[in-house]
Parts: sequence; structure tokens; C-alpha cells
Amino acid sequence: MISFALDEEQTILQTTVRKFAAEHVRPNLRAWERARAVPDEARRRFHDLGLALLDVPEAAGGAGAGLIASTVVHEELGFGDAGAAVALWAPHLVPAALLSLGDAAQAAHHLARFVEDPLALGAVAWSEPAGAPLEGFATVAEKRGGGWALSGKKAFVVNGDRASVIVVFAQVEPGRGWEGAGAFVVDGKAPGVTAGARHETLGLETVAASSLALDGVFVREEDRLAAPFVDGARRFFARASLMTAARQVGLARAAYEYALGYTQERRAFGKPVAHFQSIAFTLAETLMDVESARWLLWRAAAVPDGKLDLSHVAQAAVHANEAAFRAADNAVQLLGGAGYVQDYPVEKWLRDTKTLALSAPTDQLSQLAVTGLALGQPIDAGLPSSALQPIYT
Ligand SMILES: Cc1cc2nc3c(=O)[nH]c(=O)nc-3n(C[C@H](O)[C@H](O)[C@H](O)COP(=O)(O)OP(=O)(O)OC[C@H]3O[C@@H](n4cnc5c(N)ncnc54)[C@H](O)[C@@H]3O)c2cc1C
Repeated sequence: MISFALDEEQTILQTTVRKFAAEHVRPNLRAWERARAVPDEARRRFHDLGLALLDVPEAAGGAGAGLIASTVVHEELGFGDAGAAVALWAPHLVPAALLSLGDAAQAAHHLARFVEDPLALGAVAWSEPAGAPLEGFATVAEKRGGGWALSGKKAFVVNGDRASVIVVFAQVEPGRGWEGAGAFVVDGKAPGVTAGARHETLGLETVAASSLALDGVFVREEDRLAAPFVDGARRFFARASLMTAARQVGLARAAYEYALGYTQERRAFGKPVAHFQSIAFTLAETLMDVESARWLLWRAAAVPDGKLDLSHVAQAAVHANEAAFRAADNAVQLLGGAGYVQDYPVEKWLRDTKTLALSAPTDQLSQLAVTGLALGQPIDAGLPSSALQPIYT
């Protein structure tokens, strides 16, 4: 049976987060942007509502809600403020990585601090400033008495300059591509870890990101995450993509509703501008974008855990990015002069949606995945394999 409705529990959750976003997030959109941070009080509230570790299994201290519930939460937060949505959840990229790439004991051990401390900060480092080799990472992990030594450079790492725990993706077996990569849990204060200055960004100012240098950083054997890397990274990036898509749906809905309200109030040539046909068409197209993006997202998320369809995930991710960009762009256009000044939120949404769309994987890689999967090509770790490159490049 096909259902386009949330169940009772999901509806209660949606109402709770909608209230949280309306009362605590949207009113602070500019203040938090200027402060370049979400205050600790909001992070505590987010944690106390059980939202921080929503999709972490109950056995590991989370709420054990499914993926649909998480997309509902992130849509509502994205509606409130996409910057806050990323900042509030960013530490929980670590639990997502632990659950995707670690075994049960590793996840339980490292998750404990996120369950207990609402202000615990984590980071996951995959991107590299040098650009990726054909497959795999330039950052290397070498065997060193009882563990591993990690060396290399990472970029754009959210919370990289402040995380107490960082999951680092590195190459264990050079020449074996993604199959030869691994994930390691690194203490953010370990000798050899140096964070660069915080990046100045286009949007999402509440999110602190920086480069990271690793110089022979020692990691214990038991802190190498145990799952085969390709399967684990595929799960990790797929889940991260769905959460980004959910924020984009929320942002798109925010832009649509704002433009709808504004164009009914604003009058030109004797009537509300919403009553001009071209503006009505734009509003209708924006609404269709919002709705279709949500349906693709829910289709991708409505699967038993671990059984995500990569093509569905990639389609949802790309469409949400494009829909949100069009919605924010349309909102700026429909507000006219009010669209570009900071007295109104729409210029921020345009900057935020573009920034969100650049989190991993990019639209190009997702689109390669969609067509590659349709052609039966190998798609490793959610990224195209070298076998796919000659077809498209
Ligand atoms: C808000 C935000 C949060 C982020 N958080 C993190 C984080 O916490 N940790 C982290 O490690 N990184 C993070 N990133 C970085 C992000 O994951 C990367 O920027 C993204 O994956 C792109 O990688 P890149 O910058 O190396 O682009 P490149 O790989 O250099 O790509 C450059 C361009 O080429 C395109 N391209 C690359 N390969 C192909 C191909 N095979 N075919 C066609 N086109 C291709 C890309 O789509 C892109 O348009 C974040 C980025 C943003 C914007």
C-alpha cells in the first residue's frame, strides 16, 4: 500500500519540532547568524527534546526513530533556519559515522559522550584540500605499534576546530581505492592534530568549518572502525544526503510561504502582486517543487534501515537541492528590492541553499550515481568508481 501520510507518532514529532523551530529558531535567525553560532541553551533544548540522537537505536541511548522521522525533524528545522539545522545536528555526524562504519561495541563506547553531554562536539573528516586521487584518500593510515599513525590534510570539516572527537577517513592500503580505505576515531586534542582557521563562508554562518592537519596522529587499533569501508561509507553518505535534502525541503517551504504571504500584501498597479499571472505561475511552480522534493525524499527514506536504494537517495538529494535553490531564487525575485536586504530572510535562504548543496556528495556525483546505477555500473561508497569515469569524462 502507498501512504502519503505520517503516522501518529511522526505527526506528534512534527508538531513538537515545528513549535521548537517557530519559537526558538526562526526568531533568532539573524542574531545567530551574526553571532556565527547557535547558543548552548538551544543545543541543550534540542538534546532534551530527544531530537539530537533521534535515529540512534534505543539500545545505544538514542530515540530509535526511523529515517522518515529524521527527515520530518530536519525539514522543520530547515524551515526554521537551515544554518541552525546544520549546527544543531553537526556533532551527530559522529554518531551517524559510528553507526554506519563501526561495530556495536565501538558505537556504544564512543556514543556515550553524545548521549550524556548535550554540548559534546564531534566532526567527521573526509574532504581533502589536494583533491581526491582517482579513488580513495590522500590522507594515509600506517601501522604503528598497537595502532595506526594518521598523516594528511583535510578541508571544510564542520566543527574541525572544536570537536572533542573526529572520525577521519584515510587510506590504509594505497592502490586499492575505496576498498583500501578506513575510518578512525581520533581524539580532537591528540598530539599531531592541528586545526586551521575557521572558513569564511557564503552561507550557513552558524556552522563552524575549518581545515585540519594530521601529523602522525596515533590511533589505537580498537578505534579503527570495523565495518568494511565501502558499505559503511555508502550508508553514511546516503543518510547524510537525506538529512541535507530534508533541510532543503524545509528551506524551500519557508521561501515559498514567505513569498506567498508577501505577494498577497504587496500591491502594485492597484492589486496584490500575487494576482498577476506571471507571479501566480511562479508561486505554483515553487509549491510543486516543494511537494515533489518531499515525496522523493520520503520515498528514499521509507525503507527498512540499511536497505537504502542509492538511486532513490541520489534523486531525492539532487531534486531537493535544485527545488530549494529555485524556491529561494524565486522568493528573492518576488520580493523585489525587499529580496536583497537583510530586513527580510529570503537573501539568507538563497545563500544557505547554495551552501547546503555543496555538502557531500555534490549534485554532479549524485547524478553520476543515478545514471551509473541505471547502466549497471559500479558505484562505490556512493561515489563513482574509476570504471565509471571514462564513460562520463
Ligand atoms: C555546508 C558544508 C558542510 C561540509 N561538511 C563537511 C564535513 O563535515 N567534513 C568534510 O570532510 N567535508 C565537508 N564538506 C565538504 C564537502 O563534502 C565537499 O566540498 C564536497 O564533497 C565536494 O568536494 P570537493 O570540495 O573536494 O570538490 P571537488 O571534488 O574538488 O569537485 C569540484 C567540482 O567538480 C565536480 N566533480 C568532482 N568529481 C566529479 C566527477 N567524477 N564527475 C563530475 N563532476 C565531478 C564536483 O561536483 C564539483 O562541482 C562540507 C561542505 C559544505 C558546503
